[in-house]
Amino acid sequence: MSLRARLTLLYGGLLGALLLALGLGAQALMQGRFADETRSTLTSAAQWVYNNYTLETAVGGHLVVRLPAQHPFSTPDTYFEIVNGDGTVADQSLNLAPATLPLDRHALRQAYFHRHSTFEQVTLGHDQVQVYYTPFVYSLLPHNRANAVLVVGKSLADISRASNLFSAWFFGGEATLLVLVIVATWLITGSALRPIKAMTAQAASIAETRDFAGRVPVDSRTAELQRLALTFNHMLESLQEAYANQQRFLADASHELRTPLTVVQGNLHYLEAAPDGPVAERADALHAARIEADRMGVLVGDLLALSQADAGQGIDRRPVELDRIVLDAYRRIKSRETARDGHGATTMRLGRLDEVLVEGDESRLLQLVLILLDNAVKYTPANGEVTLELAAPTPETATICIADTGPGIPEADRERIFDRFYRSPSARASREGSGLGLAIGRWIARAHGGDIEVTSHDPHGSRFVVTLPRMPEPAPTERLRSIRELQTA
Ligand code: ADP
Repeated sequence: MSLRARLTLLYGGLLGALLLALGLGAQALMQGRFADETRSTLTSAAQWVYNNYTLETAVGGHLVVRLPAQHPFSTPDTYFEIVNGDGTVADQSLNLAPATLPLDRHALRQAYFHRHSTFEQVTLGHDQVQVYYTPFVYSLLPHNRANAVLVVGKSLADISRASNLFSAWFFGGEATLLVLVIVATWLITGSALRPIKAMTAQAASIAETRDFAGRVPVDSRTAELQRLALTFNHMLESLQEAYANQQRFLADASHELRTPLTVVQGNLHYLEAAPDGPVAERADALHAARIEADRMGVLVGDLLALSQADAGQGIDRRPVELDRIVLDAYRRIKSRETARDGHGATTMRLGRLDEVLVEGDESRLLQLVLILLDNAVKYTPANGEVTLELAAPTPETATICIADTGPGIPEADRERIFDRFYRSPSARASREGSGLGLAIGRWIARAHGGDIEVTSHDPHGSRFVVTLPRMPEPAPTERLRSIRELQTA
């Protein structure tokens, strides 16, 4: 059910219940008032008869009560009857004859034997009649008995007519009011919800066309709706950015994959087309294809890491001896550089290496240090120097610092180098690298609750500092010796 219909039903239902209660209350109040008035008329009429009756001596010598011939209550709907103890009628008003009031035996006995006055309601013909039974005493009698019972009745036809008329007008008025309120609520909620309808239509069209540049209309008349529209637009903005990023990422990824793939395909075609070609050429082609296939492998690995980052995939959280990781990365790069010794290899230095325990994913942390070390070596010109340090400046933080004597990073590039696929123009000239390393590195650092910063001073080399939160426990001292040995080597 629509919100508009629900609101209208709710308000209509509430108001209807309220009006019904009000109508029933008013009706009960009015009927109570009418009943009071009827009773007071009946008691006054009885009193008047008491003051004006006559006694006659009947044939047997006993006394017979006679109602006054004329009385001010002789309207057609007021009846009088004097009933003897045996239930026979001694006298009755003319407007009643030849009928008699249908009497209630219990009320009659109460009045006759115990002198108790009571009110009862009886049916006379089609009318309801309110009847008052009161003891009639004109001589002294034993046992508190009455001589007869005076019964005064008043037709309720007028009252019920008036009550019906009142109800018809009152409930009719209420029903009209209810209909008016329901129509007004329907119109008002329709107009209040119109901006939501417009927003829904616009959002549906955006979803259908995937045009995230579209925005929903902002209605500033209602604060809540304005906030909703602004939040929605903000969300669309983020969606637009994410969508554009995804498109760019896809385009960049396919572009990066295309080059090595072309090389692999070209070499494989050559090998296929020239099965009897020179052995050296065939070996070169195979080697080139393998190198590019390896590059593709690395790239696909990087893409996978980034897709995991995008999916918000958490990292392992185990105590990791960071000094061991830094040392491992250092050894790997150093042995690679040592193998190139004499061909412009970079000098690797291991500076301060504090024992630090962090909580995280060992392989990811190793990947992070390798990315930074590899970059430092890669961008440092022949015979340059790369220094690696791990320090624990405070009990809470650890810093890995990788400094090189390379070209440095211009101020304008300091943040952009962490973007996916971003490579500086000079770096683009070299085939090595895809521009994903630092993006992955920053994700790893942040996933561990830390970050990476570049404090490079162009052109005096770059200095990458990774900050990570520490675990309090100290690393075992046994490894210290092997580290010292390495430092002095
Ligand atoms: P890649 O090294 O594959 O190009 P990265 O994301 O690792 O991708 O680095 C992005 C860019 O940052 C590099 O292209 C390079 O321009 C710059 N950069 C990274 N490390 C250094 C460094 N140590 N010295 C100079 N420039 C660097």
